[in-house]
Amino acid sequence: MPDPFLRPDQLGFLKAMEIEVWRSRDTPVAPPADSREPVGVTPDAADWDSLSAQVSTCTRCRLHETRRQTVFGVGNRNADWMIIGEAPGADEDRQGEPFVGRAGQLLNEMLRAAGFARGDVYIANILKCRPPNNRDPRPDEVAACSAYLGRQIELVAPKLVIAVGRIAAQNLLQRDEPVGRLRGEVHRLDPWGVPVVVTYHPAYLLRSPAQKRKAWADLCLARSITGR
Ligand code: SF4
Repeated sequence: MPDPFLRPDQLGFLKAMEIEVWRSRDTPVAPPADSREPVGVTPDAADWDSLSAQVSTCTRCRLHETRRQTVFGVGNRNADWMIIGEAPGADEDRQGEPFVGRAGQLLNEMLRAAGFARGDVYIANILKCRPPNNRDPRPDEVAACSAYLGRQIELVAPKLVIAVGRIAAQNLLQRDEPVGRLRGEVHRLDPWGVPVVVTYHPAYLLRSPAQKRKAWADLCLARSITGR
């Protein structure tokens, strides 16, 4: 997989993702980038502080009864890329931040391979509270929580959404196909028209490392949309 645009630090993360990269001896190595240049009430009208406060005390669905804490979202509120996953797991419920633990570490590596630090993107989930025993979110829970995510999308106004995993992809796109059929093309997120790229959840990639190559292809598709 030759890619003359990769920096040395990105190569390290691709190696961690077990993706082999070959490079011509004639290919110049780009210098490391020092930094990344930033590009970009009620839930439907809330500012960040108000929205965060509403989520932290939300009782709109029964998941508030079993959560340790809500998991609002984290990252650059003016990000080009918004990463949207499913729901908090045990680690996230404990720490109050999305995508922590081993899956979160792999997501960080994937982002670094694509040229982003974790803090460059904005990361959120479909649900802000952990479903017990990590079961799938129920439709009424997704419906109850959707205004929060919708407002986050409006406030970030990303150039691209990456839907991570089946639950995020199906709920964002209102489709029922598996990730394998939704990935590999650019979708549009209603009603904003934001481009959406679907990829595998890092927890799945940890169980199925052979799919990491496809996840890298998804990130390359994403990079091609936002010009990175
Ligand atoms: Fe509220 Fe969403 Fe948590 Fe349900 S999952 S209690 S709607 S914040």
